[in-house]
Amino acid sequence: MPEPKSVLVIGAGLSGSVAARQLAEAGHRVTVIDERDHLAGNCHTARDPETGVMVHHYGPHIFHTGDRQVWEYVNRFAVMMPYRHQVKARVGDQVYALPINLHTINQFFGRAMDPAQARAFIAAQSRSTEPVSFEDQGLAFVGPALYAAFFRDYTRKQWGVDPARLPASILKRLPLRFTYDDNYFAHPYQAIPRDGYTAMVAAMLDHPGITVELNRAAETVTRAFDHQVYTGPLDRYFSHRLGRLGYRTLHFEHERVAAPWQGTAVMNYCDADVPHTRITEHMYFAPWEMARFTRSVVTFETSAQAGPGDIPYYPIRLLDDKTLLARYQALAQRTEGVTFLGRLGTYAYLDMDVAIRKALDASAHLIEAFARHARPDVFPDAA
Ligand code: FAD
Repeated sequence: MPEPKSVLVIGAGLSGSVAARQLAEAGHRVTVIDERDHLAGNCHTARDPETGVMVHHYGPHIFHTGDRQVWEYVNRFAVMMPYRHQVKARVGDQVYALPINLHTINQFFGRAMDPAQARAFIAAQSRSTEPVSFEDQGLAFVGPALYAAFFRDYTRKQWGVDPARLPASILKRLPLRFTYDDNYFAHPYQAIPRDGYTAMVAAMLDHPGITVELNRAAETVTRAFDHQVYTGPLDRYFSHRLGRLGYRTLHFEHERVAAPWQGTAVMNYCDADVPHTRITEHMYFAPWEMARFTRSVVTFETSAQAGPGDIPYYPIRLLDDKTLLARYQALAQRTEGVTFLGRLGTYAYLDMDVAIRKALDASAHLIEAFARHARPDVFPDAA
């Protein structure tokens, strides 16, 4: 058994909690702090005291992965209930199915095409240049009519910039299907923890080697530790001394309504004249208990540029941000005794399964370096 190290983990989201658990299981003494008053970071869920509905407080979270080890890992800490995510989209006075599939195409164009006919029909409209921007990618994928209806204005609302300025990579996440398959995700494992993500994270942190302190910001910690795992914003760690990395923030307005209200978990609003990007009706994330609710909770979600006091949600990663990121990464490389991890610590959009995978890999690296009395890499995640 190697000499136990004292480790401070900043952030009780999935990244910090997985790292804490792994380090504690390897015999190290871990203190986890978070400035919020709850565990689980942005995956936080809690039952609404009036309706009993499990609410996803920072936006809808569906666990999906193709990584078997990550799947087995979450199953150690939660009962994972099978869940199939479907998303609808309002365009004008019509409701369509997303991702764009054969049903969407036929409904939109008022046709009854089979898969081969639809493929040829869309190909005839698509502009096939080498996609550089989001707009190029959208036009290449679906042609001008579907792009304008489903992506152009929605993307402007979501990102606050013209889609021609966004990288093509953002749209790689949305497939186009020439079948009637409207399963939003393609991964083999798709589920939602029965008792919510916060209970799952609490189970991860339930270990004799882990102490948790909520309502505690990193900047107020004076005690020395052998090592730190930092999952807060990278630029904040360095007191924004080189400038602020750009983020989009989200505003969530929760409302109690009669159940059922919109009849599905997530409805996107694609038109420019509707301020919100989507409405979430939370009870649909728990089909196994849905029948018992007579009242429902819905959340209107709008997107805005993040200011200094806002919660940073989506890294914008435009060219200026990438240049600044490279400078912060260089600073991080020179900072000994700290591992930068997670969506904020590495300034990257990470799905939950990827956040867990990276936390497992980073903690394995740390445990191995501690055992060899070697200096761990400081920025194992540099992208
Ligand atoms: P976070 O959850 O942000 O945790 C970081 C924690 O650090 C926070 O609790 C914060 O309070 C704390 N912290 C920061 N700075 C400090 C400091 N200085 N001192 C103390 N504490 C600090 N992924 C999916 O797989 N499926 C989905 O359906 C999905 N939907 C999403 C929807 C939205 C709207 C968003 C924004 C993300 C979604 N994600 C989804 C991604 C998911 O939220 C992330 O993968 C996950 O939150 C990453 O966890 P994390 O620990 O890296 O970061």
